[in-house]
Amino acid sequence: MAAISAVTNYRPISPPLNFTQTPAQELFGSNVFGKAQMKARLPKPVYKSLIKTIEAGEKLDPATADVVAAAMKDWAIEKGATHYAHVFFPLTGLTAEKHDSFLSPDGAGGALAEFSGKQLIQGEPDGSSFPSGGIRATFEARGYTIWDVTSPAYILENPNGTTLCIPTAFVSWTGEALDKKTPLLRSMQALNGQAQRILKLFGKADGAFVASTAGPEQEYFLIDRHFFFARPDLLNAGRTLFGAKPPKGQEFEDHYFGAIPERVLAFMLDVERELAKLGIPIKTRHNEVAPAQYEIAPVFESANLANDHQQLTMITLKRVAEKYGMTCLTHEKPFAGVNGSGKHVNWSLGSASQGNLLDPGGTPHDNAQFLVFCASVMRAVYKFQGLLRAVVASAGNDHRLGANEAPPAIISIFLGDQLSDVFNQIKNGGAKSSLAKGTLNVGVDVLPPLPKDAGDRNRTSPFAFTGNRFEFRAVGSNQSIAGPLVAMNTIVAESLDYCATKLEEATGGDPSKLNQAIESLLSEIYAECEPIVFNGDGYSEAWHHEAEKRGLLNLKSSADALPQISTPETKALFSKYNVLSEREVDSRLDIYLHQYCLSVLTEAKLMIGLAKTSIFPAAIRYQNELASTCANLKLAGYEFDTDTLDQVTELVKFLQDSIAILKETLTRHRDGSLLEEARYCNDEVLPAMAMVRKYADELESWVADDLWPLPTYQEMLFIK
Ligand code: ADP
Ligand code: MG
Repeated sequence: MAAISAVTNYRPISPPLNFTQTPAQELFGSNVFGKAQMKARLPKPVYKSLIKTIEAGEKLDPATADVVAAAMKDWAIEKGATHYAHVFFPLTGLTAEKHDSFLSPDGAGGALAEFSGKQLIQGEPDGSSFPSGGIRATFEARGYTIWDVTSPAYILENPNGTTLCIPTAFVSWTGEALDKKTPLLRSMQALNGQAQRILKLFGKADGAFVASTAGPEQEYFLIDRHFFFARPDLLNAGRTLFGAKPPKGQEFEDHYFGAIPERVLAFMLDVERELAKLGIPIKTRHNEVAPAQYEIAPVFESANLANDHQQLTMITLKRVAEKYGMTCLTHEKPFAGVNGSGKHVNWSLGSASQGNLLDPGGTPHDNAQFLVFCASVMRAVYKFQGLLRAVVASAGNDHRLGANEAPPAIISIFLGDQLSDVFNQIKNGGAKSSLAKGTLNVGVDVLPPLPKDAGDRNRTSPFAFTGNRFEFRAVGSNQSIAGPLVAMNTIVAESLDYCATKLEEATGGDPSKLNQAIESLLSEIYAECEPIVFNGDGYSEAWHHEAEKRGLLNLKSSADALPQISTPETKALFSKYNVLSEREVDSRLDIYLHQYCLSVLTEAKLMIGLAKTSIFPAAIRYQNELASTCANLKLAGYEFDTDTLDQVTELVKFLQDSIAILKETLTRHRDGSLLEEARYCNDEVLPAMAMVRKYADELESWVADDLWPLPTYQEMLFIK
């Protein structure tokens, strides 16, 4: 096949990178207008006031904007920039940018490079093509992008020039959030406010901003571009709608952490170099479980920055893959039958002075504080399990959650045996500890050191404590991490609020009463929320029964899960902490339902087209070949065993029928509400699609290879 020979004849198109000439540490952050650049280029008072805004969340002094803009422009032009762009994150989960030239006519036939504070602070892209979920009609299209001071501007390179990129929030003219960044920033404020109250109880109110931190592990597939372009399903839907499982899949478990193929490693080095320039601290790379699947992970950062950097990482993976003749697939399930891709979001909270607040400390005092934060997370996950399930719901992630590879659709928490034991003892009134010698009295004894190694990990848990942070493993590889982060920050803020209020009441300002107050609070929380703690095998059938007995939610599909975004409880939650108004919550539900339906319906149409115009013709060509061979042999007086012809003929008939049923399913549905439509997609359209795929995939194992129109799984996953 032409694609295979093109792949095997692959030669790199660009000269190799030279790491001795420019060491990585010199490159790091070289395209970022970070603190070092600001310090060097801004007058001292301006620099100081800007840092206050960045680090302590203080309001930006408008007078500084002009000065900052001028310095930023000079720096960018030195780096070859011709344009600036306000970058924002609309609710599609993608990244959007609007470019403007620095140049404006000087009135004398020439041009001046200009960039004012006003242009830095605020942009006005036509927002009408971005989903607003009813917040704004097309005729009131005005949307504003507003400079996010806390995320540094950077240079995006292109062979023909560079662009100064300014991270921004995107809001409507009524001030409502049309994007993913605005609520993330608001949720970080909420979390900080409540965390400060807890710290104050422990005598640690030093005012340092408590930020949520995030380290997202991105999984992805890499396949050769020739195969990608020969597969209209990959091209349009990001996943294969057809394809029989290859004889060798991932069963040998020979790919995970295996040696990285040379072309892939070259790609990874290039990606990491590009990300280093952008100040993105990439740390880890390795093969993943499925063939052709890999992972990239940075060192954690403040959640807002981690989110911006995550979006840039996805874009860079895709861009650099092209350079190496490959395509990077970030869909959650590009290939049926082998593992899908997730994005594990590691989450914690901490401040510059207090460090990581989910790190069990070395003193009884620190440990008590750790337990309060930990119990707050537990309570938050228990109370808002539906919301956590909803923020990871998407058409793509539905193929992953609930299957035997990813965490199940049931949200639970893994604490590990030791930590569970600690909580159990507290619940039972400080019983003798078997794991930690002596009586466990919060604030008196030191916690047993909690294991931070891989030994005590649970890969089947959707929300696992991993020694000093929680790992939300249910997030899909193609999703923005902003939604999950907003949810986690806000629900934990609510629980911290609850704990702070209880502790403040119980102590009445008397620190000597704190230990007793904490003991009863923790024991009360554990007694209530224990059902959410599960340390066993999340893939097992037994867990599904057990979870049902415990009364936990099991929301199997997006149609089941998405409505959890706007229950009365979540609406009250989001408005109480000023993260999202009721209207903003409703608009998100609308947009996500709409996107879900759009994905399924697009795939269904694509499937019908491919089945009719590629697979069916191949099958009948082969059928015809078999039939004429049979006729000719009979004429010559030979017997012909018609087994294959019979099979193919039967499958062709089934294929035709299933296509007709899928088509009819698409027309039968009359428009209802978005939720009804999503239900219909899940209950009727997807099963009809599964039938078409079943017959097509069976045909693939009968039809002559040279007639089969699509690159096979074998080819895509194993030819590199
Ligand atoms: P795994 O063994 O789970 O694959 P990785 O090393 O691939 O672990 O990823 C772990 C991620 O967790 C990294 O991005 C790391 O920076 C992040 N992480 C570590 N500590 C914290 C923290 N306090 N807050 C948020 N993320 C953290
Ligand atoms: Mg990892």
